[in-house]
Amino acid sequence: MNKPMTIDAHAHISVSREALDGAWSSLDTLPENLLEQMDIGNISKAVLLPIDPFLPTKWVQDAFDEYPDRFIPFFSFDYSGSEQQIISRIEELDSTGVFKGAKLHPRLQSIDLGDTKLTRICTHIASFGYPILMDCLPYGPQLLKDTLPLRYEPLLKAVPHGNFILAHAGGIRFMDMMLMARTNPNVWIDTSRIIDYFANSPFSDQVLFALEKIGADKIIFGSDFPETSPAKSYTLLEEFLDPSKVLSDNRSKIMNKNILSLLKR
Ligand SMILES: [Zn+2]
Repeated sequence: MNKPMTIDAHAHISVSREALDGAWSSLDTLPENLLEQMDIGNISKAVLLPIDPFLPTKWVQDAFDEYPDRFIPFFSFDYSGSEQQIISRIEELDSTGVFKGAKLHPRLQSIDLGDTKLTRICTHIASFGYPILMDCLPYGPQLLKDTLPLRYEPLLKAVPHGNFILAHAGGIRFMDMMLMARTNPNVWIDTSRIIDYFANSPFSDQVLFALEKIGADKIIFGSDFPETSPAKSYTLLEEFLDPSKVLSDNRSKIMNKNILSLLKR
């Protein structure tokens, strides 16, 4: 079977190694490093996700300016600001006409998922027509119960016209994610981390079962570069989906159509 046109819908870049603290400081994270890995995997485009203030939106905008044919820019904002500051910032970002979606990272940006400020901000973002990609991987130093997929559900229901991509498919709680994606029409999931983590594990059949139930219309390929190379992540996903005829037959939805249908026009 021919390979469908492929978009990696989850990648991060930086301007230099020195600009990053922690785990990523030892990785090659420049836009050129990402492009090299995309070329190895014959991957056409990548969605660039900032996480302000750690991975500033400016870096994404600059990379897009340099490689407009290869990158799809999302925006982020400093969530520690007041609601009015954030709304103004979103309007300023929207006026550039550059961005195709928004990224929120509740764990890294200390976002309380139960906060009505978040509901109002997401309502505003959605009213501009942007999809909202949110990290959804229980992990980190805070209480794990506050990072579980079901904690996102009130927000999904409160912003029914918002299209949410929940990254990493809920990690170890992939069955909760299956239920959420099946019962909330405005939820999509991306495959970053979850495939790397569970491939060749005792849980791989269960993850494939959950993905089949979520359905090819709701699954989006992502690598989480620099955590994983897009080329490697693509190959792993192809192998992972192989036993599922229904998912393999609809690979073009997973590899490009779903994300393209969600981007702001
Ligand atoms: Zn990520």
